[in-house]
Amino acid sequence: MKLYEFQGKEIFKKYGIPVQSGFLIHANDKINTLTPPLVLKVQVLVGGRGRAGGIKICDGNTDVSKTINDLFTLSIKGEKVKAMLALEKVDILKEIYISITFNRAKLTPVLIIGTSGGIDIEKSAKLNKEKIYFIEFDPFLGISEYQIRFIAKKINIENYSEFKKIIEAMYKIFKEYDATLVEINPLAITPGGLVAIDSKVNLDDQAHFRHKELFNKLREEKQFIQGEKDVHVLKHKEDTITYVPLSGDIGVISDGAGTGLFTLDLINEYGGKVANFCEMGGITNPEVMLKSLKMVASDQSVKSILIVLIGGFNRMDDMAEGILKFKKELNKDIPIFIRMCGTKEEIGKELMKKANIPVYDSLNVAVEKAVKKAMEN
Ligand code: GDP
Ligand code: MN
Repeated sequence: MKLYEFQGKEIFKKYGIPVQSGFLIHANDKINTLTPPLVLKVQVLVGGRGRAGGIKICDGNTDVSKTINDLFTLSIKGEKVKAMLALEKVDILKEIYISITFNRAKLTPVLIIGTSGGIDIEKSAKLNKEKIYFIEFDPFLGISEYQIRFIAKKINIENYSEFKKIIEAMYKIFKEYDATLVEINPLAITPGGLVAIDSKVNLDDQAHFRHKELFNKLREEKQFIQGEKDVHVLKHKEDTITYVPLSGDIGVISDGAGTGLFTLDLINEYGGKVANFCEMGGITNPEVMLKSLKMVASDQSVKSILIVLIGGFNRMDDMAEGILKFKKELNKDIPIFIRMCGTKEEIGKELMKKANIPVYDSLNVAVEKAVKKAMEN
């Protein structure tokens, strides 16, 4: 899950990374007491806000209220502006790029430092104007002192201990929040010390189960900002179900996003139209299956349901149990078609057979049947 700048900065603050003071403004807030100098930054999840006009530095006699109103009319790469940060403006002497992420090929975390961060980092990196250092480190030992010293020297950091604290805090956040990315671009050298001007924090959705409360809180904040209606993909609150409403007549449930999307394509190829799609979010259980079925079936236009399951961690007997519960509880006679394979598939298939629910080994056949049924009904 991607966090907004303000969400990331709240975490930064908690871990002692210096950030500017400021506050969040929502579209309906009446703000007319702000005076320059200050910085206004729209809160969107797409990158390159600065380039797209989403960052306004208000100096001298800038009309702040008008600037705020103007920013609220913007869409940044298709994302409507619903909230912005008003921050104390800082004087920047130099901008540095810092991030911690994974080197997936080497299976290590990696600290990435660019000697001149800012909005042109990608471009200047390509032109080799930017010197970028990739420092892999042992996840258990963390970033070693010598590695931080090496970098501090390369980028002429004067206050070494201040710099070290920031890097260590970044790694602490990376570990404790199960992040896949913790980025500060730019980390500014200012007359008063180092300041994280921007934040980009991505959390690992696979670690959701370890941070349920946090994920819910962050998601609620997001939904509050975006307005429930504008969120096309609604994440279910307690669990990892992603529900996508569409406009056809076939309901689709899958236990992974990849299989699901592939199935949507196949349905299209067979001439079917998908009514809605539920992705159960990887590791799942009978309750999640039951909930997903209820969500899918609650759409009156659904004429057939296709369930596509690949059992790895997921057990097919569990999935069958959820499907049977649905049949028993709702007693709706929407025809269900299933393709299941993998862990405990024999038991799962047996249970389905007893309940007269067709199970297919071939995804193509299952899709074909579901499409045909929806057309008949
Ligand atoms: P991004 O475009 O989404 O990456 O937004 P950033 O928050 O990184 O801001 C983009 C650029 O605006 C930074 O690289 C800075 O050059 C500039 N900027 C942002 N805040 C301040 C500030 O408080 N003072 C100054 N002088 N520049 C700022
Ligand atoms: Mn930035």
